Amino acid sequence: MGIASQPGVNRPRILRDFKTRRHAHGQCVADALAAAERTCAARGQRLTALRRRVLELVWVNHEPIKAYDILARLRDERARAAPPTVYRALEFLRGEGLVHRIESLNAFVGCGAPAQAHRGQFLICSQCGTVAELDDGELSAVIVDRAARMGFQVERETIEIVGRCMHCRV
Ligand SMILES: [Zn+2]
Ligand SMILES: [Zn+2]
Ligand SMILES: [Zn+2]
Repeated sequence: MGIASQPGVNRPRILRDFKTRRHAHGQCVADALAAAERTCAARGQRLTALRRRVLELVWVNHEPIKAYDILARLRDERARAAPPTVYRALEFLRGEGLVHRIESLNAFVGCGAPAQAHRGQFLICSQCGTVAELDDGELSAVIVDRAARMGFQVERETIEIVGRCMHCRV
């Protein structure tokens, strides 16, 4: 992606923080949908009603959600919702950086900063399931360097770290 050569990218950024179990989640959803509208409009992409609804379902909480759970919820609302419909919508959202796939769980989370190019670095709480997202250029630089020493060129980076969040540790 060439992001390592941009100035200022080595500052670690928290794209999505761990949330307390009780917080104004409606605001998280509203912010995510507003960011999605802006991002799609800026790129000339259409956030159709279905894509928007799938994104909303991904943001139902801060835990990763599986495609078939999204489909199950959608079927309650639209009798004709078929698996390809959901997969296509998820692919679109993923392509626009609005959701990320947590590979180890085969599930999706909403992105906290869809408009900015970033890596896939995730902290996953094994207890409550909440996922936080960070973008740390130093960490990436170390990976690129170690890989290069092995003659390997990094094309895509997804880091998934499992542990316990501050709310589950108390
Ligand atoms: Zn929230
Ligand atoms: Zn993201
Ligand atoms: Zn937790």
